[in-house]
Amino acid sequence: MVSSVYIHVPFCAKKCEYCAFYSEGTDGARIERYVAALLIDIRRQAIQAQPRTVFFGGGTPSLLTLGQWARIFDAFQEVGWTSVSEFTVECNPATVSAAKAALFRENGVNRISMGVQSLDEGLLDRLGRVHSREMVFRSFQTLREAGFDNINLDLMFAIPGQTKEIWQQTLDEILEFGSEHLSCYEVIYEEDTPLYDQMKAGEFDVDEALASEMYEMLVRSLDLKGYRQYEIANFARSDGNDPNGFPSYACRHNINYWVGGDYLALGPAAAGHQDGQRYQNWSNTELYCEAIQAGRLPRDGGECLEPLAKASETAAFSLRMNRGIHFLEFQAKTGFDLQEHWGAELDRLVGCGWGERCEETFRLTRTGFRFADAAGAELLKV
Ligand code: SF4
Repeated sequence: MVSSVYIHVPFCAKKCEYCAFYSEGTDGARIERYVAALLIDIRRQAIQAQPRTVFFGGGTPSLLTLGQWARIFDAFQEVGWTSVSEFTVECNPATVSAAKAALFRENGVNRISMGVQSLDEGLLDRLGRVHSREMVFRSFQTLREAGFDNINLDLMFAIPGQTKEIWQQTLDEILEFGSEHLSCYEVIYEEDTPLYDQMKAGEFDVDEALASEMYEMLVRSLDLKGYRQYEIANFARSDGNDPNGFPSYACRHNINYWVGGDYLALGPAAAGHQDGQRYQNWSNTELYCEAIQAGRLPRDGGECLEPLAKASETAAFSLRMNRGIHFLEFQAKTGFDLQEHWGAELDRLVGCGWGERCEETFRLTRTGFRFADAAGAELLKV
């Protein structure tokens, strides 16, 4: 039985300048068709899962109407997906309403992840976001008034045009919100995005040194306010009850990805992993709906991972967490002894100052954290 379910809602009011996720515009008939297909998908796949964590990501899940959400929640009831301990819905600040927040609460949603990205109007514009800074304040208050006591806010740094002063101002203001969780990502230039094209055309320079400084400012500011970093980009508050060494408000759903757990994927472009099999749904809403309606799995492909390849992927992801890779847990999960199979790679990472061996774990140093992708690549065995 799979205990984590990811559901992709592929609609956005407007495409952001930096975004390479699969999403499309808000055609009402298309969204209806998607919801009808999703309900079938839920009913069909329900037998494989008893989710402890559910994550609706996007796209912009909060774009769905109250009626569409009610039908989705009814399907959850019908299939018995009712013991979800962490139920997250991603929201755009432009699409949060009191009625939607209340409906979410009544139906077991207990965590909201809100894409803020910046509190500077100029940068929000630069990124092509549809919301204003004012909407962030209003939506956060609406969510609190509805009773949400576990809210994540997403931020971005190293945005073209963002100075250290603007970044510090955003950090100071965001910390005043007192959210339980913060996810903070450096801008990534993905091919096929307007931001990438602008960068390639020389419209701005990428300043690595400034990005590093901004990351240091982030870690320092959040630490001073009592947030515990538990992954490169993720910080959470703790109420003192920290199972497995993670802060109590750490996102359990994402931790499951990083430790190599199984998860079910529903919706276009969603990727899943089960029993050593990785798969990807069609990154096309039409094809997804057609497949579901015809009684087929909506898959664009899949691959069976060799145990060693899967274990090395788990090692690379686990390195992203502050606690690093726990030797015994890793062996229990993958069947491989990290120190035996990756001894030379671990030595290399220690040698260049990126990694450190402790009694029970291997983890990245602070310097290593800046090069986590390269460090993770060292451990991949394909
Ligand atoms: S709201 Fe999110 S998913 Fe939609 S275009 Fe912007 S970044 Fe991409």
